[in-house]
Amino acid sequence: MSGNPPSPLLEVRDLVVWFPIRRGVLNRPVGWVRAVDGVSLFLEKGETLALVGESGCGKTTLGRTVCGLEKPRSGETLLQGEPLWPRLRERAWRRKAQMVFQDPNAALNPRMTVMDTLTEGMEVHGLLGEGREAAARRLLSEVGLDPASLFRYPHEFSGGQRQRICIARALSLEPELVVCDEAVSALDVSVRAQILKLLAGLQRKRGLAYLFITHDLAVARHIAGRVSVMYLGVIVETGPAREVLENPRHPYTRALVSAVPVPRGGGAARIVLEGDPPSPAAPPSGCRFHTRCPHVMDVCRTTPPEARRAGGVETRCWLG
Ligand code: SF4
Repeated sequence: MSGNPPSPLLEVRDLVVWFPIRRGVLNRPVGWVRAVDGVSLFLEKGETLALVGESGCGKTTLGRTVCGLEKPRSGETLLQGEPLWPRLRERAWRRKAQMVFQDPNAALNPRMTVMDTLTEGMEVHGLLGEGREAAARRLLSEVGLDPASLFRYPHEFSGGQRQRICIARALSLEPELVVCDEAVSALDVSVRAQILKLLAGLQRKRGLAYLFITHDLAVARHIAGRVSVMYLGVIVETGPAREVLENPRHPYTRALVSAVPVPRGGGAARIVLEGDPPSPAAPPSGCRFHTRCPHVMDVCRTTPPEARRAGGVETRCWLG
């Protein structure tokens, strides 16, 4: 019997993803956009981790990287305890992590029927043992759509129904992990609640893990067991969703939470942050948040804070 604890489904260690800024006729790199700049996180099987933060903080790049869609500059991504990048050469590994995007209109090919959309990937991966029609019918009914709509096209469905088709397509490859990138942000409130309920049911049934990328803290609180808060390419606070969103410790998380109507009893005053987030092409020295932090100290301007853990919550702030 091995004494090692089982590996998490996903483990990201010190991940760095930079994109070159190219200029001139020779298209030479003149700088780097530091989209993800030293992120570590883990995700257990059947768990939901919400990744929250303002637009442009690097959430989507992180999600795309754990799905193998972006190549990291350094760091490690382990899926089921094995380095992801070498294993992506194998077809079976390319389907273990799938993505559901924000805009189902852009994600679906308008010229493909639902059946073709749902079975295209299954065919490539040799998963059509039950036949194309039977597989597509099964997937449609799993996401709450009429199996008889097999031969219809995306434009014949509502926005919520199209997002169900996108979810069914992700499920068609039998993934272990689904990265939902603002997957309910474009939907009406009532439809959003239905899709969140569907995702929760699918998670229970299939044992799926979700990395749920959202700017909406109410959605994060509803769906996730844990939350990681990202600012300018780094994670500043991680912990149980309830704890982080009801008792935020990092000044950035406090500002985010104060800006949305999360029921917290007491209703703290809104914290208005000055200015826009700095460019990820020229991030500030020291603590990334120091140019906007109401509690900034001299040390914050020069030295990045280490992660500190207390009561199951990890924060990166000199205030502890
Ligand atoms: Fe603010 Fe300093 Fe904490 Fe950064 S380390 S969040 S600047 S107090």
